[in-house]
Formats: sequence, structure tokens, C-alpha cells
Amino acid sequence: MSPFPPPAGPLLLRCRTLLTHARAVPLRDAGVLVENGTVVAVAPFAELADRAPADRTTELDGVVLPAFTDAHSHLRALPLGEQGVADTDLETWVVRLTGTTALDPYDDTTAAAVALVATGVTTVQAIHHSFADADTYAAGVRAVASALTEAGLRAELAVGITDRAEFLPEPLPVAWPGPAREPRSLAAPARGIPPGDLPALAASLAPSCPGVRLGVAPVAPQWCSDEALEVLRRCADDGLRLHTHLLESRHQRTWLGGRDGGSDPVSRLDRHGLLGPGLSAAHGVWLTGPEIALLARRGAALVHCPVSNARLASGDAPVRSWLDAGVTVALGMDSQHTAAPDMFAEMRAALAAAERTGGPLTPHEVLAMATEGGAAATGHGGRLGRIAPGFRADLICVATGTTGAKADLDPVERIVSGAAATDVTDVFRSGRPLVAGGAVHGRPAAEAALARLRTVLETDREARTRRLDSLAAYEEPLRGLLAGTES
Ligand SMILES: [Zn+2]
Repeated sequence: MSPFPPPAGPLLLRCRTLLTHARAVPLRDAGVLVENGTVVAVAPFAELADRAPADRTTELDGVVLPAFTDAHSHLRALPLGEQGVADTDLETWVVRLTGTTALDPYDDTTAAAVALVATGVTTVQAIHHSFADADTYAAGVRAVASALTEAGLRAELAVGITDRAEFLPEPLPVAWPGPAREPRSLAAPARGIPPGDLPALAASLAPSCPGVRLGVAPVAPQWCSDEALEVLRRCADDGLRLHTHLLESRHQRTWLGGRDGGSDPVSRLDRHGLLGPGLSAAHGVWLTGPEIALLARRGAALVHCPVSNARLASGDAPVRSWLDAGVTVALGMDSQHTAAPDMFAEMRAALAAAERTGGPLTPHEVLAMATEGGAAATGHGGRLGRIAPGFRADLICVATGTTGAKADLDPVERIVSGAAATDVTDVFRSGRPLVAGGAVHGRPAAEAALARLRTVLETDREARTRRLDSLAAYEEPLRGLLAGTES
């Protein structure tokens, strides 16, 4: 049996305003009939009123639209600011991450997942990445998977592997001027799982993670040897989906730009047969025009993470050119929230970033990225991202601006320009309510998990401060190194 069964019997939703997809003409007083978790009819409510009993009819007094996909997440519940990790450039930030407190994966995922549901996300794609030994790694994946399932999220969980330095090129292009130990060793303390063991690990995990779909991730191509990429291709040949980070920072572009022809991340992914419809890549800020065209030809998807790109000084991705080239584009929050995750703020960040690049996007385009684009990028194209017969009944109700001066504005513009996570009153996943009338069903479990996480953070506070202070010694020489490689 599915670990997440749809509710028994028909469900009829009466929607004051219904947007069946991001570019649709809004429908007034519309009905959505759901059976076995799937939409079977969309029509004026009056035409469907007798198709379900009154106690199976729900009135939704706002704008009803398809639920969101967060297509790139690390399932972090707490902002890293609570651990004393301030925003900085990506390379320095990765060094700081190595000093943070390790948190229980079940509690962290529970709180993160419920917060995603509260902002209207019903599908998440996440990378699980740790340097633990195989048993601890497997236990971590199982804990994450059960927390996701219990929160009600549909999840694509990519099992990450790396066997190279995490964030600096090998070999270093200039001499390391800092403390005796090079910073790359900080981000590679141990390699618990040889890449060759990944297929067996993924296969052994699948039966014990029934609520999620497992995939695999190189985490980033430059962090994987050719041998590791070959292993990932074998996983893909066996039907597993792929997710990765790709050309996130300017320094990655400089270091990995293909000076010797073909050593850049896109060429390597393509050479190993990993660029295809089964792959989605996050960030892509520094992709070139020809690389974007190649991704479009191969059918690979890109996940735009505008808030993360701004916070880690990665730059603004030229998303207009991605769409114009025909690439499938999704939105990802990258667990980079400062308070609670907010998909509406992410959409506004996408609009603002596009303005800065001189290639603006419309509110309808960013809403499409958060819905249909996310569905396509995670392998759910044609089943999620729209409210239409044959699609799963994943939909949300947003209560913003349905009355007053803005009532006549186009609902997509109203939602993208002005809504917030707190305006989401209802969330359905396969017809089952995860948020109803503003009440988030998972909230008590999430709050208990958050309290435990904060206790752990508090217990580790002094030790963490010492670790972060000692890491600070690396930052100035690292900046020097970064500057040196720019020239
Ligand atoms: Zn990420």
C-alpha cells in the first residue's frame, strides 16, 4: 500500500477563483472534483455540485492554484544565522559550514518539511550529502525519508556522492598562503562511501524508503572523479534520476572553464552521458550560451535559486536566456531562508534578479517555474503542476487580495507581487489536506523537533564558537587565493 493513501471517496472543492495553471484565464466559482487523489473534472461549480456529498465539499475562499515544487533543497530547518554562519561568498561559506553543529536528520527534516508545506510546497527535491560511513549514511537517508513521508511531502531525494575536494580546484592554481592545512581538506574530512558502492547502497535503501523516490547526485561534477561519474551513469541507466549543483559561483567558472578543452563541468556531464531529461541542475549562474543550448537539446532542466544566489554572492542567473533557449526551468529555495521558507518571496527574487540581468521575466513565467517547471524538472511532468483531469490533486489556496482595491487585478500578478507564506490557507497533496483553514497539520511535530534542535544548538554553542573562530583564520588567505585565481 502507498504510505500516503488518498482520502476515500470523492472530494469536491468549490473555488472562489481558480487558476488551473500559471497562464490560465482565472475561473470564478469553479469546482474541482477529485477521486483517488486525482483530479477528474474541472467545471463551473454548479455543474459538479451533485457529484459529491455536502460533507465531502470544501469551500476555498481565495485563489486556488497548483501547489509548488521546491526543486532544490537541503532540508535545513534553521537559518544558518542561528549557528553564527553569516552570508558571504560561496567558497568562504562552505568553509564556515564545516564548523556548524551536526543536527539530527529526522528532526531537521521534519521541521524543514512542515515549513515547506506551510508555504504551499507539496513536492521537494533534495540532496542528501554527508561524509559518514555507509551505515550512518544509510540511517541518515532513512531518517530523512521517514520525516518527509510523515510531513506529507512528495520527495525526490538524491543520494549525494563526492570523491574530490569540495570547493577548490585540484591542483590549486596558486600556492596556498594560509595555515598549514589547506582549506580543501576541511571540507573532505573523510570519504565514508567509495563511489563504486553507491549503486548497491541506493538499491538497498529503496525498500526502506517507500514514501520518497530516491535518485543520485554527484553533488557537483567537479567534486566527482571520472570514475564516480561513470558510476552515476550506471545508476541513471538503471532508471534513477540525477540532481546536481552546476556552475554556481564565478570562481567555479574561472577554475573549471575548460582551459584544456572538455574539463568543464558541462562537458564532463555530457561525456559521461549524464546530460538528459533525467537530470536537473541547480544554480547554473555561470553557464555560457552554447552550454545553455546544449542543456536544452539534451532535455536537462535547470533549477533557479535566486535568493541563494544573492545571499552567497553568486550573481544573477540569466534565466530569460534559459527560457528563450527552451530549457525547462524550476525554482529552488536551497534552504536559504532567514526566517521561514517563502516560495512567494522566492518568486519575487526571481523577478528582481531577472530585472538586474536586463532580461525580465513576467509573474506568469515565474509562477510557471514554481509549478509546471518544478514538476517537469523532477520527473512529474504531465502529472503535477496543473489542475486538470488526470493530474494529481496537489493544489493550494491563497487568501491574499481577494477583496478591496486590488480585487480586480490579475490574480497571478496579485499573488506573485504581494502574497506570503502566511497567506496560504489550504494545501492538498493528492487530495489530502496538509493545511486546512490556515492550520498546518504537521505544526506540532515541527515545533517539537525545532525545540530539540535548538537545545542541541545551545549545548554546542561554546564549542561551535571555538570551531568557527578557528576557521576564521582561513578566510583571509582564502580570499587572497580567490583574488589570485581571478587574474
Ligand atoms: Zn544547494
